[in-house]
Amino acid sequence: MKIFEQLERQRHWNEDERMLLDQVQRLADQVIAPAAEHYDRSGEFPQKNVDAINALGLNALFVPEAYGGAPMSIRLYLRVVQIISEACASTGIIYATNYHGMKPLIDVGTEEQKQRLLPLIAEGGLGALAITEPEAGSDATGMKTSFTPDGDDIIVNGTKIFITNGNIADRILLFGKWSEIDDPKKAISALIFEKGTPGFEVIRLEEKMGHRASPTAAIAFNNARVKRANLLGNPGDGLSILLSSLNKSRPSVAAHALGIATAAFKDMVTYINDRKQSGRKIIEFQGNQFMLADLATDLAMAESWLDYVAGLFERGESDFGLEASMIKMRASDLAMRISTEAVQMHGGYGYCADYRVERLMRDAKITQIWEGTNQVHRQLIGRSFIKK
Ligand SMILES: Cc1cc2nc3c(=O)[nH]c(=O)nc-3n(C[C@H](O)[C@H](O)[C@H](O)COP(=O)(O)OP(=O)(O)OC[C@H]3O[C@@H](n4cnc5c(N)ncnc54)[C@H](O)[C@@H]3O)c2cc1C
Repeated sequence: MKIFEQLERQRHWNEDERMLLDQVQRLADQVIAPAAEHYDRSGEFPQKNVDAINALGLNALFVPEAYGGAPMSIRLYLRVVQIISEACASTGIIYATNYHGMKPLIDVGTEEQKQRLLPLIAEGGLGALAITEPEAGSDATGMKTSFTPDGDDIIVNGTKIFITNGNIADRILLFGKWSEIDDPKKAISALIFEKGTPGFEVIRLEEKMGHRASPTAAIAFNNARVKRANLLGNPGDGLSILLSSLNKSRPSVAAHALGIATAAFKDMVTYINDRKQSGRKIIEFQGNQFMLADLATDLAMAESWLDYVAGLFERGESDFGLEASMIKMRASDLAMRISTEAVQMHGGYGYCADYRVERLMRDAKITQIWEGTNQVHRQLIGRSFIKK
């Protein structure tokens, strides 16, 4: 793993960052990874892992100081997501979803909204991001959830599906359409829905192939009354909030996918250095070395591109949607490819639950589907080359 150790050294973390990363690595090794199999099998919410993450104050990493946070760099946040996800993909996505849901509030919320809504998140509250609906997946503009103004309130009606943390989140970033705006795209608006608001219903929790400990909920809003003060921006600002928030969450889901890819890569290398057939270690067969070389190279390239995107983000660039699409697409394809090869390299054992690679392959699949399917990302990247 010399290449990856060198890559990590080149990140030149400062002393505070190094100390935090060491703490997160210990947490991952001692608490999160050992429990991952249990949570995957039981499908139980990994409360102990979330408590341990909160004991380290990791939500504070992305919340500004004025609202109870202790922010460090986005690069550091992404590294934390990767380390946690390598230990347990379910726990990784639960943690990252707090950021995905709350970053738009941090970016476009008013001072009053941030003072009121963010301290709970900084202390370890759960966030969610609710876009998808039964009839609106890849094309989110087809959403039907309605926001109807009523004096100082907004009446919310509609159904969202596949919402990570949706059943338990303290704050949900919710997208819907402003009833008084006719144009379907211009009507999209965003608000923060607070836990405990009457009219909220959890319809069901999905039974899934992977990420079995990360709750995925179908939720409904039945004449739910939300304070107008919770609207982000103005009525109709939702589409631009949605697009800019996805640009920021995609590097984060890429870091999560790279966590899965890294776990699979390490398990594969360990196993084929040990397992022998025909009197030779599996790694000594040249075909397997070629495969390993390709995967290691792609993993190193993806990590470097993630660092590059994080750099754009940190320098305050606003136009990095394509770069974010590229890393989301490549990291998730790689997680699927490496975990599939890792199962293959374990032979029959890889298909059995005794080895972690079986879980990693199941966990990897969704990374190609959520936050924009990889077909959609290919389309976004490809069409950027069409000459006007
Ligand atoms: C475990 C899990 C967690 C999730 N978490 C969240 C969450 O927290 N918040 C949230 O809002 N959503 C969440 N989602 C939803 C997820 O983002 C959507 O499933 C995804 O965007 C795809 O939408 P869809 O399932 O409706 O598929 P569809 O849009 O119906 O797509 C079906 C197929 O058609 C393809 N397709 C669609 N449009 C095109 C096109 N233009 N060109 C080529 N191919 C196309 C797709 O790539 C896909 O292969 C989650 C989903 C799952 C399963």
